[in-house]
Amino acid sequence: MLPPNLSLVLLDRDGVINADSKDYIKVPDEWTPISGALEAIVQLQQHVNVAVCTNQSGIDRGLFSLDDLHAIHEKFQSALTSAGGSPISIYFCPHGPHSGCNCRKPRAGLLTTAITQFGGTPSSTLFAGDSPRDLAAAEAAGCLPVLLRTGNGTETLASAHPAPITFDDLSELTTSILAAKRQG
Ligand SMILES: [Mg+2]
Ligand SMILES: [Zn+2]
Repeated sequence: MLPPNLSLVLLDRDGVINADSKDYIKVPDEWTPISGALEAIVQLQQHVNVAVCTNQSGIDRGLFSLDDLHAIHEKFQSALTSAGGSPISIYFCPHGPHSGCNCRKPRAGLLTTAITQFGGTPSSTLFAGDSPRDLAAAEAAGCLPVLLRTGNGTETLASAHPAPITFDDLSELTTSILAAKRQG
């Protein structure tokens, strides 16, 4: 059971909100929402603050530009608002794995920035992702780590010891968050 006091839900992007690709998501056409994910965000936004924390090292790798990333996020924002949601804050790390930056997950930087900007606390924040670095970043930031089986999630679960709190997808997580809030 999830805690009833959650006030901020942070989400990884690729493999959580949209289908991931080993070739990276480089242009808006490659960004396709996972079934039910946008509707889940719309529901969450009615009860808690929601933001996205995403590694986008494809920028550092020269696979796409900052303008491309902004165009992808415009498509995301427009799909979200068309589904009845509000614009969502997206925190991204454009750096590569060897940059030593503080924002690339598994480091905590993106999450702690989001928590600070929303005036939240780590203990009332949940971070949901599909990869080991998401779970590690949540722990580093002091938030509740949640694994989703979408994207790399099934593979991540197989190697995660002890097993984290896990849900099939963002829809199932949302149902559980809202149930916890009703009971709290
Ligand atoms: Mg991911
Ligand atoms: Zn970074």
